[in-house]
Amino acid sequence: MYDDGKLGLVQDDKVYDVSAALSVLPAAQKPWMGGRGDPLISHLELLRPAILAALPGASAKAVADARFLSPVQRPSKIIGVPVNYHEHVVEAESDVATFSDRFRGSIEQQGFFLKAVSALVGPGEGITLRFPDRRNDHEMELGVVIGRKVSNIGAEEALPVIAGYAIALDMVVRGPEDRSLRKSGDSYAVLGPWLVTADEVADPQALDFSLHVNGDLRQASNTSRMIMPIAEQIAYASRFYTLYPGDIIMTGTCEGVGPVTPGDTITCGIAGIADMTVAIHSAYDDARNVR
Ligand code: MN
Repeated sequence: MYDDGKLGLVQDDKVYDVSAALSVLPAAQKPWMGGRGDPLISHLELLRPAILAALPGASAKAVADARFLSPVQRPSKIIGVPVNYHEHVVEAESDVATFSDRFRGSIEQQGFFLKAVSALVGPGEGITLRFPDRRNDHEMELGVVIGRKVSNIGAEEALPVIAGYAIALDMVVRGPEDRSLRKSGDSYAVLGPWLVTADEVADPQALDFSLHVNGDLRQASNTSRMIMPIAEQIAYASRFYTLYPGDIIMTGTCEGVGPVTPGDTITCGIAGIADMTVAIHSAYDDARNVR
């Protein structure tokens, strides 16, 4: 999704406007019909041939000139996975004053957490710090987007449930409040720059990723370093609640989380997924965040 809400297909550094494909979506239903979940992700298999049909003759612009929005607009939930990289556990345990004592304990002991869906933005919208006087940290993560409704499934059934992948930034303001509150400010959940469908990612547990702030390397790891792999994350989550198309799992961050301040620029990338740039804005600005 880009600019004013166009549906795009990215190929070779260009984004093609394939919004015409949206006409295959079912007509708007009454609010209580159609079930939960993101309508675009719910109908991805219906959309796919329509998108390819819309491609010849579609207008295009350079990826660098497009303002990318979140590829999922209406998730039913954004799920966070804590302490999922070995080296980040060491980092958190060594600085309880910053990371809070809630950070201690295994994933199974802590469980997952939720971020408000209203926190979700794309990279083109940027991050606006709610409390610029407090420490606000970046967490670079692989974002997993669920493709269909499932509940109580096993890990061996989990990977085919995935619609695709994107870069996720799980932003947080440090402090004593409940984690779900501190991670749910407007724009504290960045997803983008686009969805890479699952068929294009041979092994999601073997992806190099990194994050820079103002050109300085802060985080670098590989998804092979996860403590709880993605399939087990999906199975674990599905034991507690039904997963719906468009649900986002932020699969955990590696070591090197650190503060950002207004005026900073985050650049980050996951090999085989994408690169993206996200600006940290200087003050709360209602107009900028209206979507
Ligand atoms: Mn996180």
